[in-house]
Amino acid sequence: MAEPKDVYTIEDLRNWKEVTADLDIPPRLSVFGDPVQHSKSPQLHNPGLEAAGLGCQYVRIHVLEGELEEALSLLKENDFVGTNVTIPHKQAIFEAVDDITDVARRVGAVNTVAIDGDQFIGHNTDAPGLKKAIREEFSIDLSDLRVMVVGAGGGAGKAASVQCAMDHCERLVLVNRTVEKAEALAGELKDLMIDPDKLEGPAGRLLAIPWEEKAIERELENIDLIINATSVGMKRTDPEVIPSQLIEPHHLIYDMIYSPARTRLMADAEEAGAKAANGLSMLLWQGVLAFEFWFNRSAPVEAMRKGLISSF
Ligand code: NAP
Repeated sequence: MAEPKDVYTIEDLRNWKEVTADLDIPPRLSVFGDPVQHSKSPQLHNPGLEAAGLGCQYVRIHVLEGELEEALSLLKENDFVGTNVTIPHKQAIFEAVDDITDVARRVGAVNTVAIDGDQFIGHNTDAPGLKKAIREEFSIDLSDLRVMVVGAGGGAGKAASVQCAMDHCERLVLVNRTVEKAEALAGELKDLMIDPDKLEGPAGRLLAIPWEEKAIERELENIDLIINATSVGMKRTDPEVIPSQLIEPHHLIYDMIYSPARTRLMADAEEAGAKAANGLSMLLWQGVLAFEFWFNRSAPVEAMRKGLISSF
């Protein structure tokens, strides 16, 4: 049985029938990116496709910035079901799709495209993937939590913040090194956080603060869940995301980083007696939700989880 290439190119896509003629299982899903070699999406999706008996497979395609529109139309010509898109296409894809879901519009980024007849539909599964991950890790819903998002100025932080606001969480504190970005996001989310059923407490339901110890300390008393959406913690030499002495046993800590599996923030949380989880569950659930968006059926979650875990 012929194995697919690790990475295909747009040139391959132009000659797709010939290039993939020796494969027993036809590729019908992909991830576009530059770089894309590192993507774990095939290891996540292929066990799911196999377990569901869908008779197709998922491949990586190296698509450069100017090649996005052509690559998409080639997918349509070659009977693809859809694709994921990653860096540098998450924003540019907006111009290339025919319609987008509300959550993708709010986040301002698309990571999943479904081909529906003649149409490309863009969706963002990072945001609802985070929601599922929090539910799974801590057995509680975002809507019942007072949340602090550190790194609200980045793509992952915006996805997390949008989901919290769409779920009308109890309280949302946006923290960012460049505070102006958090302030701008707070402005965008204001309409979602006005909820007549939730009383304004003295702490203010939506605010933006700088990534500074004093400002963070002031808010943490009224926070249940702290999400790290920065890349701080990927390197051993990185500074603290949250000063360790400020972490209390009642805090729930979700670190979106999954490599390393245990960051300094997680270690600090456990030391303080707080519960902590890494970003692997979000990575899993964004994939599960993409699968469900493409096939309109429930995904074999456990097969996907196993595939993802064994890819590390
Ligand atoms: P990004 O767009 O580059 O965002 C970076 C954010 O982190 C910005 O808010 C930035 O603040 C802040 N930041 C970066 N370096 C910092 C530093 N040294 N000190 C303080 N703040 C700093 O990155 P991203 O794509 O959103 O990803 C962020 C993290 O989430 C990465 O670790 C990524 O691997 C992870 N992630 C995980 C998943 C998952 O499924 N688990 C999904 C997506 C992303 P400024 O605005 O001030 O620059």
